[in-house]
Amino acid sequence: MKLPKIGQVKVKQHREIPASYVLKSVTVSQSPSGKYHASISFEYENQVPERKPHTFLGLDFSMNGLYKDSEGNEAEYPKYYRKWEKKLEREQRKLSHMQKGSRNWEKQRIKVAKLHEKVANQRKDFLHKRSREIVNAYDCVCIEDLDMKAMARSLHFGKSVHDNGWGMFTTFLKYKLEEEGKQLIRIDKWYPSSQTCSVCGYKNPETKDLGMREWDCPRCKSHHDRDLNAAINIRKLSSLNK
Ligand SMILES: [Zn+2]
Repeated sequence: MKLPKIGQVKVKQHREIPASYVLKSVTVSQSPSGKYHASISFEYENQVPERKPHTFLGLDFSMNGLYKDSEGNEAEYPKYYRKWEKKLEREQRKLSHMQKGSRNWEKQRIKVAKLHEKVANQRKDFLHKRSREIVNAYDCVCIEDLDMKAMARSLHFGKSVHDNGWGMFTTFLKYKLEEEGKQLIRIDKWYPSSQTCSVCGYKNPETKDLGMREWDCPRCKSHHDRDLNAAINIRKLSSLNK
């Protein structure tokens, strides 16, 4: 790659670029661990006709595991991801006890930055993989339109919201679906997906208590797993929208 003022730079290119793509811009950045990245943006024609959807999936956001889907499956972050995340926490704690600006502190800062990048890359790979699997299997995916910033501010969820990856995941889902003429539908965040019985439609105010993981419908007596019931309701709305 030839960069202004710097000249020729060796790059590791991950994908072949089709001849019809038009180069728009290149942004060079340096990560905290010292690595350089060039992100290159292209413009291209993408005229995929919208398909009539036949298969629908609902996803209910989950704080710990990313989501539960309307088939009862969870996203399941790989075990090694948690392991590296724990290691990152440990090393961050070590850093916080060191004297800022000292040689050891600087060494530890770079160690933490590298770990941070590793964890972020693992998460990104995983989110790409899961979104690809879903897009291959379904024509239409429905999610709740959540305000993650507001959730992060709320006392109940707090800081953990930032690292969950939901925002990135839904971005991946959306463009992967659209590339194939498929659709991502966002439903109103005020729709009571957790409170409504997915069998008979009864609204159970008792389920406003987030600690209630399972419940029985007082009207039709169906037994519900909180998140699965919500995901089924979300899927139902997506097929009603079609
Ligand atoms: Zn019911």
